[in-house]
Amino acid sequence: MIDTNYHATDRRQRPEDARILVVEDETTVRETITQALQDEGFSVVTATDGLSGLRKARDTKPDLVLLDLMLPEMDGLSLCRALRRDSDIPIIMLTARSTEMDKIIGLETGADDYVVKPFSLGELLARVRSLLRRSRSGNAKDQLRLVSGTLKLDLSSHRVTLGQDEIHLTQKEFNLLAELMRNSGAVLSRDLLLEKVWGYDYVGSTHTVDVHVRWLREKIEDEPSKPQRIVTIRGIGYRFEA
Ligand code: CA
Repeated sequence: MIDTNYHATDRRQRPEDARILVVEDETTVRETITQALQDEGFSVVTATDGLSGLRKARDTKPDLVLLDLMLPEMDGLSLCRALRRDSDIPIIMLTARSTEMDKIIGLETGADDYVVKPFSLGELLARVRSLLRRSRSGNAKDQLRLVSGTLKLDLSSHRVTLGQDEIHLTQKEFNLLAELMRNSGAVLSRDLLLEKVWGYDYVGSTHTVDVHVRWLREKIEDEPSKPQRIVTIRGIGYRFEA
């Protein structure tokens, strides 16, 4: 199975395309922030109290939440905790209280950043963009990790682990495993694997693929003679079992 984030990632390219939920009870502040975000091309959803903020966060699935600390119905800290229970959505707290303690409380709650009122719109927009960027690069990292049960392959660090153990693979073994895991559940022919891993201009036989699969099995299968992960599809090639 590929890490669910691999498929779930539905982030659009330009940060300005993001949807932002603004939870703020003060009308002037809420409207000013909303206008500024819309001018920048963001789409904005607003809520005027904590409970409706929570409901809108769940209904509209925003890319980022701007959350005032002092709110009616449910305060910003409680809302932040509630959001964190089931999502890692980026949250920026807006606080009128500037003591260090408030900042610490805000961050312990799971907020990613905070802005102290009065703040400039420029500063707020910069924080929003920066957090969206960070959050997206985090998602991009997830896409570089292929996971199947206890077997994990990280394309960026080039590491493969099985449970707690690091598995040492040659370059070709690594690329072959990555190709198989990326297409988990699908049958890949020897010819296709040869082309993908060894390249179009590789002069050699498909037997090369069989040899590397055998080596891979010795490293990642519990019982290499009875492979559960890389399965042979007779007459065709191989399939990686999720
Ligand atoms: Ca308030």
